[in-house]
Amino acid sequence: MRNFGRLHWQQGAPVEPDCSKILCVGRNYAQHAAELNNPVPEQPVIFIKPSTALCDLQQPLQLPQAEVHYELELALWIVQPLTKASPEQSLAAIGGYALALDLTLRQVQSQLKQQGYPWELAKAFDHSCPVGPLIKSLDRPLEETQIGLWIDAELRQQGQVKQMIFDPGYLLSFISQHISLLPGDLVLTGTPAGVGPLRSNQQLRMQLNQHFWNGSVA
Ligand code: ZN
Repeated sequence: MRNFGRLHWQQGAPVEPDCSKILCVGRNYAQHAAELNNPVPEQPVIFIKPSTALCDLQQPLQLPQAEVHYELELALWIVQPLTKASPEQSLAAIGGYALALDLTLRQVQSQLKQQGYPWELAKAFDHSCPVGPLIKSLDRPLEETQIGLWIDAELRQQGQVKQMIFDPGYLLSFISQHISLLPGDLVLTGTPAGVGPLRSNQQLRMQLNQHFWNGSVA
């Protein structure tokens, strides 16, 4: 099922991680928490996608039958092991950045949340984490970094790192107090407001600072 081979570091290359796991954070933008009627959390809400969730964001997205929501997120590429690391050590372990979609079966997630069950069936299915090309260094400070998603030429999501409730250094440090991060792991930093369903044949345009990429839904 995996489309990917081994990690390599060429600027702009498709992400090909030697990835043990993908750490994700829920509700890291206040406006997105509000749009799903979730409280703003006091500590990061963490969940994991397996490496079998990875696929290539630039290939047509193959979706399951149920309603799938897009969540555009900035992904951090970890290149040094992190265990009980400080925010400064954590930031130094980021080796690159990419755009990712945290694809979500929203109705399944709502049912699981109501029952108090884990979210994995809604979040961790095969190809639920399309990832775009790797950018090794940013053209502006991390907190000024901006992501955006257009669907059929209509702007749906836009966010900046400085709008995050928990900034990347804090997030990685927090995760590493509980779960060690290994080289090749990805950390998705949460989605801005504007999530919604994907439909067949939609055209996607995605921004990470000055970089733009196209995608589509099969
Ligand atoms: Zn998400």
